[in-house]
Amino acid sequence: MNADHPFPHSPTELVIDLDALADNWRLLRDRAAAGGAFATAVVKADGYGLGIAPVARALHQAGCRSFFTAHLDEAIRLRAILPDAGVEISAMNGLTPGDEEAYREHRLAPTLNDLGQIERWRAFCRTEETAHAANLHVDTGMCRLGLPWQEVDRLAEEPERLDGVALSYLMSHLVNADDPAAPINRRQRQDFAAICARLPTPMRGRMLANSSGCFLGRDWLFDCVRPGVAIYGGAPNEDGPNPMKPVISLRAKILQIRDVDAPQTVGYGAAHRVERPTRVATVAVGYADGYLRSIGAGPVPTQAVAHVGRQEVPVIGRVSMDLTTLDVTDAPDAAVGAPVEMIGPLNPIDRLAEAAGTIGYEILTSLGARYRRRYVGRAAEGAAEGAA
Ligand SMILES: *Cc1c(COP(=O)(O)O)cnc(C)c1O
Repeated sequence: MNADHPFPHSPTELVIDLDALADNWRLLRDRAAAGGAFATAVVKADGYGLGIAPVARALHQAGCRSFFTAHLDEAIRLRAILPDAGVEISAMNGLTPGDEEAYREHRLAPTLNDLGQIERWRAFCRTEETAHAANLHVDTGMCRLGLPWQEVDRLAEEPERLDGVALSYLMSHLVNADDPAAPINRRQRQDFAAICARLPTPMRGRMLANSSGCFLGRDWLFDCVRPGVAIYGGAPNEDGPNPMKPVISLRAKILQIRDVDAPQTVGYGAAHRVERPTRVATVAVGYADGYLRSIGAGPVPTQAVAHVGRQEVPVIGRVSMDLTTLDVTDAPDAAVGAPVEMIGPLNPIDRLAEAAGTIGYEILTSLGARYRRRYVGRAAEGAAEGAA
């Protein structure tokens, strides 16, 4: 059985458009190229929930040759998917003691996040008498991973700490790039440029921009960019139209329709009161599938919706583990077995995220395993093979 279809009878289908994904990466690549930079791709968390194998193959076909994961294990898995010597794979979360050999064996670059990691990689390179590639991450405001400024100072004063290491990328990460007006964007760019001037020149390049950073302007592009969410269709900016193509559609078939004529409540907690004659449709999408419970729990500033044809239908009541209820009173096409677009061009991930009080990233990375997943697009030919 195809490993992508462990639930072949599921009435809910998750369609992943690999051509849209490839187009999104090319758009980012072209934006970067207009500023003299090249584009890599972040494929952590199973390709933002969409399946690392088909995603990575589609991006490789589109021309991407440098990939970033969070974990070493993700990078090892990716190396098996893209074994070509011309493909660079980096893990960003840092060098854990004892992992050195695994990086070498699978031809992966660790991202060195403090002086201790630099020292350990350097010692490893010395033992092997080979300058193995590694990236260096400097912190310019995230206070998460990367060398803090005190360690950057030490390294700038003692650059021999990097002797014998092949420095591949020199990187930092933006804190608030989705808000172009945030003053911290400019400060981080200046600090990063100043740090780059004090440290050895990396072989592959200096990189700061995530998806949103690609839209801040030329000055944020440096030598290369490191986008993630925008490849998968997420909006890179808080306001304005989303320039990215939608990549996923979640299509559920209506399981049952209930006509409610008297005042009654729908779902757990009697949380939704029906005040008029209402048709309630139930679909097989629940919080166990990553359709977050917060989408339907209690008062929310924005109403979550789905679509029957082009007709918008509100989500009503609480989202249960396996089921969600919709008010289809105004959708004449709603019938048992009829398709409902839960996520798609009419109802993009960022809109659903807003109704859930979260961000598109979490909608993507929460997408459940119980859907029937179908990869479409020219890039899907062969790309979904062995997508386990
Ligand atoms: C996740 C991540 C990215 C990609 O960010 P997006 O906002 O998804 O484009 C880039 N760099 C680092 C360090 C990350 O953790």
